[in-house]
Amino acid sequence: MENLIVCKKCVMDNTATEIVVGDDGVCNFCKSYEVLANDTINRPDDIKQKELQDQLAEIKQRGAGKEYDCILGVSGGVDSTYLALKAKQWGLRPLVVHFDNGWNSELAVKNIENIVNKLCFDLHTYVIDWQKFRDLQLSYIKASVLDLEAPTDQIIFSALYKIASKKGIKTILSGHNISTESILPRSWYTDKLDYVNMKDIHHKYGTTSISGLPKLTLYHKYYYQHVLCISTSSLLNYIDYNKKSVKDEITQNLDWKDYGGKHHESVYTRFYQSYILPVKFNIDKRKAHLSSLIVSGQIGREEAAKEIQSPPYDVKAIADEKEYVAKKFSISVDELNRYIEQPNRSHSDFRTEYDKDVRFYYFLFRVIVYIPVRVLRLFKVLETPKNPKFY
Ligand SMILES: [Zn+2]
Repeated sequence: MENLIVCKKCVMDNTATEIVVGDDGVCNFCKSYEVLANDTINRPDDIKQKELQDQLAEIKQRGAGKEYDCILGVSGGVDSTYLALKAKQWGLRPLVVHFDNGWNSELAVKNIENIVNKLCFDLHTYVIDWQKFRDLQLSYIKASVLDLEAPTDQIIFSALYKIASKKGIKTILSGHNISTESILPRSWYTDKLDYVNMKDIHHKYGTTSISGLPKLTLYHKYYYQHVLCISTSSLLNYIDYNKKSVKDEITQNLDWKDYGGKHHESVYTRFYQSYILPVKFNIDKRKAHLSSLIVSGQIGREEAAKEIQSPPYDVKAIADEKEYVAKKFSISVDELNRYIEQPNRSHSDFRTEYDKDVRFYYFLFRVIVYIPVRVLRLFKVLETPKNPKFY
């Protein structure tokens, strides 16, 4: 890329179109991190500890008398594995859910087996209808849009909410953490929980029905968050989270095995992040991952800059990987190449949850349910949701 502008503190550059590098040479991502960290992870330990204890007490109280007090989706990756270990130490009783979308590496599956066996947690494996899910994923590739992980993320969340609602679970534990995931340019992903967008992309490029797959429409989100009051807790933000020592801890306690890059527990995610994103969209997600680690003081800039110099994918193995991916989709490598070489399209070229008619009907719905919901809350038939993410 010509005229590459790089932040002197992290390794973000103007392949993220929204970057603004100040006169001091430091980018807006670094500056936003400082503000966020000062409000959260950089606060004094005693304050964070007190808040953690309050949150744990509330999760236990809301789950009292039930089989589980929380639900935890595990991928076999570092964050969810460590969260499972901490949940055990904190005395939580999670139902562990693993989403089998047909792409998990053997190592990831082994890691998950170790988590549940060593921590004596119940495991619910959510197996998706592969024919339908494959058609949905392939429709995103054919549509030439950016966020090929949106179907997986959306269906994981839909499944977690669905299982939580069935089991009366009120808390979803999230492995998201500011220490290792704070930097991610908005232009590098889409609103992953936009069902309207997913439906329209599949409607235009899919070949089979996807009915029966778990859904997360605006109305589902309202029901789960405002009626059932299922909330999400990101507990890793209350403790020191250092990637290297966390990896050591889970290796020692849970026989966890490393599988390489971030989120490479899925073969599809690895192919997407290390090949499609850099080659098709000129996005190298390692820059965001490593910058997050730099700003939180877990890795030096020099080390990160050196890592980025290596190709994002294994040049020798990519032909085999492409063949594997094409075979899983029941298409030829030529066909896969053709889709990758198409001009890129924006998610907003398709319908979204922000379209005027969609917002209008949702607004009408909110008006209609406003008074009944308020009355039910007044009489304590319904709880009052805490910090709902969806409105
Ligand atoms: Zn920066």
